[in-house]
This record gives sequence, structure tokens and C-alpha cells, in this order.
Amino acid sequence: MREIQIGGLVSFTTIDYPEKLAAVLFLVGCPLHCVYCSNPHLIPLHDGEYDPEKVLEWLKSRVGKLEAVVFSGGEALMQGDALIEYMRRVRELGFAIGLHTNGFYPETLARAADYVDWIGLDYKTTRNKYGDLSGQNIAHDHMIRSLDVWLATGKDFEVRVTCDPRFVTKLDLMEIATDLHNRGVKKFAVQKYIPHFEDSTHNTTPEQRAQFFTDKNLRATIDALFDSVTWRE
Ligand code: SF4
Repeated sequence: MREIQIGGLVSFTTIDYPEKLAAVLFLVGCPLHCVYCSNPHLIPLHDGEYDPEKVLEWLKSRVGKLEAVVFSGGEALMQGDALIEYMRRVRELGFAIGLHTNGFYPETLARAADYVDWIGLDYKTTRNKYGDLSGQNIAHDHMIRSLDVWLATGKDFEVRVTCDPRFVTKLDLMEIATDLHNRGVKKFAVQKYIPHFEDSTHNTTPEQRAQFFTDKNLRATIDALFDSVTWRE
């Protein structure tokens, strides 16, 4: 089994795992090519810059100071059994394990579920727009299967959508929220699309990007569908 490939590390964060102080490991490789990806250097599977054993040694020094370790990417589950084994070892140290995932690997998620305490699952856009946004038409179906896998665990999670106006309209956001409500999701997060230097072709205006957050009726309607909705501007 190839060891996991770590391409980035954040040593301290308060926003990547709910109500826990966490470190984030960014694993290399992703099956999607989202137009707005802020980590495009992590998309191709390649050797990671961080030695996993040294990272584990460092994590041992953080026991009692950090509460959780979040696996992000790229798409961490792309690394399959190597990831699951590494998660097991990190969890053995006493950390809660978080996972940020695009949901492309439901079978791997099912195998990892015993070692993961919380996930943040990306619902990128409506099914018919997934191909244009991510380069993979099938990714929506995989994501829904991952959602079903996680719902069956009964563990905590949130589903989030990044509202890039090129791929998500207000109607789309309502459709997504209604779909999630009907599937029994309790925690939803709506994230503002923030252009960055890697996405130089974007042609959106600040008003277009803010429209989801300034529409009080839309917000109230979505708020009523879930136990908790986080509006990340
Ligand atoms: S799923 Fe995430 S890491 Fe992969 S291409 Fe999309 S934004 Fe980038």
C-alpha cells in the first residue's frame, strides 16, 4: 500500500471542524476539475511534499492542544486504504477526525466511516450543471450515494454549496436546499463564492456574488428547511 501523499498542512484552525481546534492536512489528487478550484496544484496525483511519518510525529506533539484533524484536499478519499490506515493512526492519538469531501468515492467513504467523526460534503450545483462546473457529469450521482452512506452512519455532518453565480442561481439554490431537506439533511451551509487569482477567467460582479445573501425571503425560506443553516459570506 502506497503511503498517503500530503501536499499541504494548516497547523491551527477554528473554522474547519465545528467547535473544535483543528489541524488540516491537504492530500493531493482530485477526480474533479472545478472551474473555481482554489487548490488546482493539488488536483494531479503526485508525490506529496510532507513526510506522513513526520506529520504524525508532529501531531503527537499537538495532543492536548488540538482536538481534531481534518483531511481535505484535493479529494482525500482518492488515496483509498492508505488514507483509512492513516486516519486510524491519527484517531488512535485521541483526535476527532474530520473529512472535507466532494463525495466522489462513496464506497471508500463507507470503508472509512468507522474512523471519521464528521464530514463536510460539497453539493456543488444541480445535477444538470455538475459536468460544466466539475468536468464530471457522474459526480452528482456519486455525491448523492455518499450522502446516503453518511446518513446511514447517523454521525454528524454538514452539506455545503458554494454559490458561484456562473453555476448556481437562486432557483438552483432552492432546488438544492429542497432536495437536501427531503433527504433528511439537518445542517446546511451556504458559502459565498470569492474569486481568487487561480480563477482569473471569472466574470462575476460583487452584486451577483452577494445576491444569495441579500435576499431575505430566500434566506428565510431556506432557514426554515433545516435545523441549522450557516451563511458564510
Ligand atoms: S473538488 Fe475541490 S479540490 Fe477537487 S477540483 Fe473541485 S474544488 Fe478543487
